[in-house]
Amino acid sequence: MKNSGLLVILSGPSGCGKGTVIKELLRRNPNVFLSVSATTRLPREGEQDGIHYHFITKDRFESLIAEEGMLEYASYCDNYYGTPKAAVEEKLCAGKDVILEIEVQGALQVMNKRPDAVSIFILPPSAKELEHRLVGRNTEDRDTIDRRLAKAWDEITYASRYDYAVVNDDLMEAVQEVEAVLIAEKCKSVRMEHTIASIVDKNC
Ligand code: ADP
Ligand code: 5GP
Repeated sequence: MKNSGLLVILSGPSGCGKGTVIKELLRRNPNVFLSVSATTRLPREGEQDGIHYHFITKDRFESLIAEEGMLEYASYCDNYYGTPKAAVEEKLCAGKDVILEIEVQGALQVMNKRPDAVSIFILPPSAKELEHRLVGRNTEDRDTIDRRLAKAWDEITYASRYDYAVVNDDLMEAVQEVEAVLIAEKCKSVRMEHTIASIVDKNC
């Protein structure tokens, strides 16, 4: 029997570089999967339904909540965002590591429901750099950027509730630090039960 995969929560203020870190992590680690969230926000240019998000209506989102189909969900800047439960469970059972890229309210729900989840908070190196990245991404209008920046400092106060904090200054260093967390967490003896049992079975 396989050890179950790691459930990894990754949060950080909008524009700190979560998506960029995750993209590189996925490229380097074929066993790692990103959960595709559902959202009621409109797609940005280039975003594809079922790949970047499941873009759904508010009614459909509320039905999924009622059917208990969401592992967690939250309202962020006037839109719903949530993690469909079934796809996450399926990957974990197959021994894959699953990343949830979610904001803090949803993260706190997962920490409660799944104490085995590993949580990582990504920080920007400074306020100035966060604004520079959000503006430079060129995906939101100025009003949305200002609302996201105002939210950022509230979100950062939650960083100490996470198991790990990683500063995304140099991208490759940040990716390596996230990888180091995953490697160490997988070596915890409590997660190695099946491996330990099979070695004992074969040799003792
Ligand atoms: P988030 O997913 O947290 O909202 P993104 O991954 O979209 O953030 O990154 C926001 C912007 O910052 C993007 O334009 C991205 O290219 C840039 N960026 C991400 N990480 C770094 C980094 N380490 N150094 C410089 N720019 C970065
Ligand atoms: P964006 O609109 O920039 O894609 O995402 C806005 C915020 O919503 C980000 O902080 C992102 O991490 C968060 N988010 C994305 N998907 C989910 C989700 O499934 N659940 C929760 N709680 N937050 C999410």
